[in-house]
Amino acid sequence: MRFKEIGWNGLLFEVPEEMRMTSEGGNINSGYLRTEMEGLVMEVKWELLNPKKIKSLAEVADSFISSAKKKIKKTSKKKIDLKVERAESRFIASHSAYSMFLKTVAKAWEPVYIWNCEKSGRVVIIHFTSILPEDTSRELVEHILSSFKCHHEGKFIPWSALNIRFNVPASFLLSERKIAVGRTYLVFNEQKLSPFAEMGRSLIIEYFSMANVIYEDTYKNLEVWFQNKYWKDLKKRCKNIAFQTTETKRILRHNVLHKHGVKGSGIFTRRLTSCDNLTWYCSKSNRIYSITFTSYVSRPFFLKRKLDEETNRKIIEELVSSFRCHL
Ligand SMILES: [Zn+2]
Ligand SMILES: [Zn+2]
Repeated sequence: MRFKEIGWNGLLFEVPEEMRMTSEGGNINSGYLRTEMEGLVMEVKWELLNPKKIKSLAEVADSFISSAKKKIKKTSKKKIDLKVERAESRFIASHSAYSMFLKTVAKAWEPVYIWNCEKSGRVVIIHFTSILPEDTSRELVEHILSSFKCHHEGKFIPWSALNIRFNVPASFLLSERKIAVGRTYLVFNEQKLSPFAEMGRSLIIEYFSMANVIYEDTYKNLEVWFQNKYWKDLKKRCKNIAFQTTETKRILRHNVLHKHGVKGSGIFTRRLTSCDNLTWYCSKSNRIYSITFTSYVSRPFFLKRKLDEETNRKIIEELVSSFRCHL
């Protein structure tokens, strides 16, 4: 069987190639993810550990079981005596994980794993539901668990899904998304407040599918595409941006349109915003990609405003060098 990587909100693991992400929510601090294929469902949940009140894994397991019971009651309208069988703990990503088997679905094999990842400060719960033959189930679950990573070294974390892959800083929170036929985007935000300044960064990763059909007239001329099909919409989403320069660069084996600009705005609280946009057409995936990185600093008008250009440059460099637009 062939496997592929899924990287989402600081988790990274391998699943069978036909497995699809079917639902997700939240951000790196607290969220969930569901992937599915014929006969196998994998649900992952994570939450921030409260350092003052760390619950034992058995307590976390108990509340997981009681919410599973509630869910069954809600859907089947009857009270079910949920069977739970404790299993031996095992290691996942160098953490000792509490393991058990549930029975929420008739004839299914349902292992559950719960562990604390101190390095990312989170508790992680994985629940598999499989109606595949037992040895196949065991083999797949084993492969997924042994590939599982819940923490990463360094400041950047890998994202890998929807046939794209890239690294962004762990401090960038996924705050908006649309995953749809034709158009998909992920929006990340980072914000820092101090008594005399507000600083923030945002990143939009967006692509348009079937580009040679939908943008038949413009996909080969990205400047025209950008001006006629994209700029109006981008301006609405990113306040206070303007571009002063446009260059074409050869990146990722594609011709990439790189726009850059800085704009000042506001009266009493002055804001300085820098913006970089990278737009290209990838023939292998037949998508138009448009990535927009903005960084701003806001301060009262009598104080100087300076953007952290060095950090911005590093973030863009890492993003570009890690980006895969076709797999
Ligand atoms: Zn970990
Ligand atoms: Zn490409």
